[in-house]
Amino acid sequence: MRKDLVCGMDVSETETSQRIEQHGETYYFCSEQCKENFANNPEKYLHPRKKGVFTRFLERLAKENHQAFGNKKPSCH
Ligand SMILES: [Zn+2]
Repeated sequence: MRKDLVCGMDVSETETSQRIEQHGETYYFCSEQCKENFANNPEKYLHPRKKGVFTRFLERLAKENHQAFGNKKPSCH
């Protein structure tokens, strides 16, 4: 099994005819659409950008909540 880098689906090498050879590697895709997306912008899929600012913000928020309350429930008396 290979991974379709565009949509993340598992793709069987033997069942798909959608493939691209690049840098000595063969990449497999579930559909012509995914293959075209990859062909148009391979770098985007080979080297996905780091997490966006908003995602990092949400993660930090979740972490701070965890630190504030730990495992015990907030007290309410
Ligand atoms: Zn796909």
